[in-house]
Amino acid sequence: MSNESELRVLNPATEEVVATVPAATAQDVDDAVVRAGRAQVRWAALAPADRARLLRRFAAEVDGRIEELARLEVREAGHTLGNARWEAGNVRDLLDYAAGGVERLTGRQIPVAGGLDITLLEPLGVVGVIAPWNFPMPIAAWGTAPALAAGNAVVLKPAETTPLTALRLAELALEAGLPEHLFQVLPGAGPVAGDALVTHPGVAKIVFTGSTAVGKQVLAKGSALLKRVTLELGGKSPNIVFADADVEAAAASAPMSFLDNSGQDCCARTRILVQRSVHDRFLELLAPAVESVVVGDPSDERTQMGPLISAAQLERVRSYVDADAPGIRGKAPEGPGFWFEPTVLTGVGPGARVAVEEVFGPVAVVLPFEDEADAVRLANATDYGLSGSVWTRDVGRALRVSGAVRAGNLSVNSHSSVRYWTPFGGFKQSGIGRELGPDALTAFTETKNVFISTEGPAQ
Ligand code: NAD
Repeated sequence: MSNESELRVLNPATEEVVATVPAATAQDVDDAVVRAGRAQVRWAALAPADRARLLRRFAAEVDGRIEELARLEVREAGHTLGNARWEAGNVRDLLDYAAGGVERLTGRQIPVAGGLDITLLEPLGVVGVIAPWNFPMPIAAWGTAPALAAGNAVVLKPAETTPLTALRLAELALEAGLPEHLFQVLPGAGPVAGDALVTHPGVAKIVFTGSTAVGKQVLAKGSALLKRVTLELGGKSPNIVFADADVEAAAASAPMSFLDNSGQDCCARTRILVQRSVHDRFLELLAPAVESVVVGDPSDERTQMGPLISAAQLERVRSYVDADAPGIRGKAPEGPGFWFEPTVLTGVGPGARVAVEEVFGPVAVVLPFEDEADAVRLANATDYGLSGSVWTRDVGRALRVSGAVRAGNLSVNSHSSVRYWTPFGGFKQSGIGRELGPDALTAFTETKNVFISTEGPAQ
């Protein structure tokens, strides 16, 4: 158990204590923001090439520690080793990509009469990043890397259950030569340290990733100070399989599209919509694919799915699944650890709680549809709008359906959503704003317009 002054980090695969870290108070956050503000002024004054060089060194430090960071992520978050290595590499790539943007962060010159008009992209100041536990390293870096590159300082609050890799990243930043206090990590309770960041007048922008419920509170409190707020929230994404698709490929790829990271993925394709004429065939193919997913020790190279993050998350996932509900079940270890088996429910209606709410566990539903219009209607029958997949061999249909699904990240004949160089974010209740991609740095700037008269002073 964690208490008010410290956080106990458990290994979700064994329930053993990995570490205990102090929990930041509101006063700690205030002190950190003040220090960050001073560091930011000096950082923004550095030559762009020097800022870029330091960020590349930070990337190189991370690159040299991929295995160490990955093993730490396995222990604190239960991620499979393969995933954790990818996540550490993603931090390195984000830093490199952001470093490449420092000298390219240019304003514009706009034609005007009687002078010259230019826009300046100025840093915001201190940025607060509030990260969730499901992808502790990448999501911390999604906000941090472009914010630093654009000349800001960052105070990062990791999730209560997963502070260790973020703390290590802050050490690596210092070892790389980034100025002290420019990137600070403050583990702590959401309603204490997180809230202190959101309500701090010295924090210009909050980058929040987490649940829709907390995101709404963050937006309300941040807007009271007219703070810039980016929200990356939940999802209930459709995986739409048309009869004209490569049904074998769709069925083979469907399991890991919702089981990756034990389903604790905001982009998980947990609503599998299958055209009725291929529904039974799809299920025949899906069953062995789900049953053969290797669930177990996340530090074993062969493991495809690890445990859930916590006892609370396990309880939450259990609450969505009746033990005798019809469907497909994989296998999960017994004994210590927060294990839940891969589960596909086949007998639920489109309005069932498990079919519309984000479970954030290894649970999907299969729902049949009749035609294209029905598929789009079902796909959009959710408050969320983060991701989705469309399986079809008809290019026109792929484009029509990608256009009609109200979500921020669609993939055709694949389940890819997140690349650090393409934009990512949600429609509807899945969020506000975009992260990553070519405009990532601009989102951490204010645009200032300057008009310079060429007419000379008025006589
Ligand atoms: P959460 O909302 O409970 O917590 C997220 C973060 O917010 C944590 O750091 C937490 O400490 C902090 N927090 C909690 N209460 C707070 C408050 N009152 N003020 C300020 N900060 C507060 O969510 P979670 O359980 O950690 O994460 C799971 C959720 O995150 C899921 O719903 C998932 O879909 C979503 N998510 C979204 C994306 C995305 O990019 N869209 C990515 C990952 C996770």
